[in-house]
Amino acid sequence: MADDDTIFDKILRGEIPCDRVYEDEWVLCFRDINPQAPVHAVVIPKKKARDVGELCALAPDFVGGYMAGIVKAAQRLGLEGGYRVVFNTGKDAQQSVAYVHAHILGGRVLGWPPG
Ligand code: 5GP
Repeated sequence: MADDDTIFDKILRGEIPCDRVYEDEWVLCFRDINPQAPVHAVVIPKKKARDVGELCALAPDFVGGYMAGIVKAAQRLGLEGGYRVVFNTGKDAQQSVAYVHAHILGGRVLGWPPG
Protein backbone atom coordinates (compact mmCIF):
# COMPACT_ATOMS: atom_id res chain seq x y z
CA MET A 1 0.00 0.00 0.00
CA ALA A 2 1.04 3.58 -0.50
CA ASP A 3 2.46 5.95 2.11
CA ASP A 4 0.41 7.73 4.74
CA ASP A 5 -0.50 10.76 2.63
CA THR A 6 -2.72 8.93 0.19
CA ILE A 7 -4.65 10.07 -2.85
CA PHE A 8 -7.79 10.09 -0.69
CA ASP A 9 -6.14 12.41 1.89
CA LYS A 10 -5.44 14.77 -1.01
CA ILE A 11 -9.00 14.51 -2.37
CA LEU A 12 -10.40 15.22 1.11
CA ARG A 13 -8.17 18.31 1.42
CA GLY A 14 -9.38 19.49 -2.01
CA GLU A 15 -5.91 19.25 -3.55
CA ILE A 16 -7.09 16.74 -6.18
CA PRO A 17 -10.51 17.06 -7.83
CA CYS A 18 -13.21 14.43 -7.53
CA ASP A 19 -16.69 13.84 -8.92
CA ARG A 20 -18.50 14.41 -5.64
CA VAL A 21 -21.71 12.50 -4.98
CA TYR A 22 -22.48 13.24 -1.33
CA GLU A 23 -20.87 14.99 1.62
CA ASP A 24 -21.82 15.62 5.24
CA GLU A 25 -19.97 16.20 8.51
CA TRP A 26 -18.83 12.57 8.64
CA VAL A 27 -18.11 11.48 5.07
CA LEU A 28 -17.16 12.38 1.53
CA CYS A 29 -18.42 10.21 -1.35
CA PHE A 30 -17.12 10.50 -4.90
CA ARG A 31 -17.22 8.41 -8.06
CA ASP A 32 -14.44 5.88 -8.55
CA ILE A 33 -12.01 6.83 -11.32
CA ASN A 34 -11.95 3.22 -12.61
CA PRO A 35 -15.56 2.00 -12.25
CA GLN A 36 -16.20 -1.74 -11.87
CA ALA A 37 -19.99 -1.42 -12.33
CA PRO A 38 -22.33 1.09 -14.00
CA VAL A 39 -22.45 2.90 -10.66
CA HIS A 40 -19.26 2.82 -8.55
CA ALA A 41 -18.41 5.33 -5.85
CA VAL A 42 -16.22 5.31 -2.76
CA VAL A 43 -17.08 6.75 0.64
CA ILE A 44 -14.32 7.94 2.95
CA PRO A 45 -14.66 9.11 6.56
CA LYS A 46 -13.50 12.61 7.42
CA LYS A 47 -11.22 11.18 10.12
CA LYS A 48 -8.25 9.17 8.94
CA ALA A 49 -8.12 5.42 9.41
CA ARG A 50 -6.05 3.14 7.21
CA ASP A 51 -8.51 0.26 7.15
CA VAL A 52 -11.67 -1.06 8.84
CA GLY A 53 -9.64 -2.28 11.82
CA GLU A 54 -8.39 1.23 12.53
CA LEU A 55 -11.85 2.62 11.79
CA CYS A 56 -13.32 0.52 14.59
CA ALA A 57 -10.89 2.14 17.04
CA LEU A 58 -12.50 5.54 16.40
CA ALA A 59 -15.38 6.81 18.56
CA PRO A 60 -18.61 4.81 18.11
CA ASP A 61 -20.49 8.01 17.22
CA PHE A 62 -18.07 8.62 14.40
CA VAL A 63 -18.29 5.05 13.09
CA GLY A 64 -22.09 5.31 13.18
CA GLY A 65 -21.97 8.62 11.29
CA TYR A 66 -19.75 6.99 8.68
CA MET A 67 -22.09 4.03 8.21
CA ALA A 68 -25.11 6.34 7.92
CA GLY A 69 -23.18 8.39 5.37
CA ILE A 70 -22.60 5.29 3.24
CA VAL A 71 -26.35 4.62 3.14
CA LYS A 72 -27.16 8.26 2.35
CA ALA A 73 -24.60 8.22 -0.46
CA ALA A 74 -26.18 5.05 -1.91
CA GLN A 75 -29.58 6.76 -1.78
CA ARG A 76 -28.12 9.78 -3.56
CA LEU A 77 -26.82 7.44 -6.28
CA GLY A 78 -30.40 6.24 -6.86
CA LEU A 79 -29.70 2.54 -6.40
CA GLU A 80 -33.29 1.48 -5.70
CA GLY A 81 -32.62 -2.01 -7.08
CA GLY A 82 -29.91 -2.66 -4.49
CA TYR A 83 -26.20 -2.26 -4.18
CA ARG A 84 -23.09 -3.80 -2.67
CA VAL A 85 -20.82 -2.20 -0.07
CA VAL A 86 -17.24 -3.53 -0.07
CA PHE A 87 -14.26 -2.78 2.17
CA ASN A 88 -11.15 -4.25 0.57
CA THR A 89 -8.84 -4.79 3.54
CA GLY A 90 -5.18 -5.70 3.29
CA LYS A 91 -3.09 -7.22 0.55
CA ASP A 92 -5.08 -10.41 -0.10
CA ALA A 93 -8.14 -8.25 -0.80
CA GLN A 94 -5.97 -5.96 -2.97
CA GLN A 95 -6.57 -2.82 -0.94
CA SER A 96 -4.53 -0.27 -2.87
CA VAL A 97 -5.27 2.97 -0.98
CA ALA A 98 -4.38 3.03 2.71
CA TYR A 99 -7.29 5.25 3.68
CA VAL A 100 -10.39 3.31 4.64
CA HIS A 101 -13.05 3.48 1.95
CA ALA A 102 -16.34 1.77 1.27
CA HIS A 103 -16.95 0.91 -2.36
CA ILE A 104 -20.61 1.28 -3.38
CA LEU A 105 -21.32 -0.81 -6.48
CA GLY A 106 -24.60 -1.10 -8.35
CA GLY A 107 -26.56 -0.38 -11.48
CA ARG A 108 -26.58 -4.03 -12.60
CA VAL A 109 -27.10 -7.46 -11.08
CA LEU A 110 -23.83 -8.18 -9.24
CA GLY A 111 -22.31 -11.65 -9.37
CA TRP A 112 -21.66 -13.72 -6.26
CA PRO A 113 -19.19 -14.87 -5.09
CA PRO A 114 -16.91 -12.00 -6.05
CA GLY A 115 -13.50 -12.80 -7.52
P1 5GP B 1 -9.00 -0.37 -3.23
O1 5GP B 1 -8.32 -1.15 -4.31
O2 5GP B 1 -8.00 0.25 -2.28
O3 5GP B 1 -10.08 -1.12 -2.54
O4 5GP B 1 -9.76 0.81 -3.94
C1 5GP B 1 -9.17 2.02 -4.32
C2 5GP B 1 -10.05 2.62 -5.38
O5 5GP B 1 -9.68 3.97 -5.55
C3 5GP B 1 -9.95 1.95 -6.75
O6 5GP B 1 -11.23 1.45 -7.12
C4 5GP B 1 -9.45 3.06 -7.66
O7 5GP B 1 -10.03 3.00 -8.95
C5 5GP B 1 -9.84 4.31 -6.90
N1 5GP B 1 -8.98 5.45 -7.16
C6 5GP B 1 -7.63 5.46 -7.16
N2 5GP B 1 -7.18 6.71 -7.39
C7 5GP B 1 -8.28 7.49 -7.54
C8 5GP B 1 -8.45 8.88 -7.81
O8 5GP B 1 -7.50 9.66 -7.97
N3 5GP B 1 -9.73 9.34 -7.91
C9 5GP B 1 -10.81 8.51 -7.74
N4 5GP B 1 -12.02 9.06 -7.86
N5 5GP B 1 -10.68 7.19 -7.48
C10 5GP B 1 -9.42 6.69 -7.39
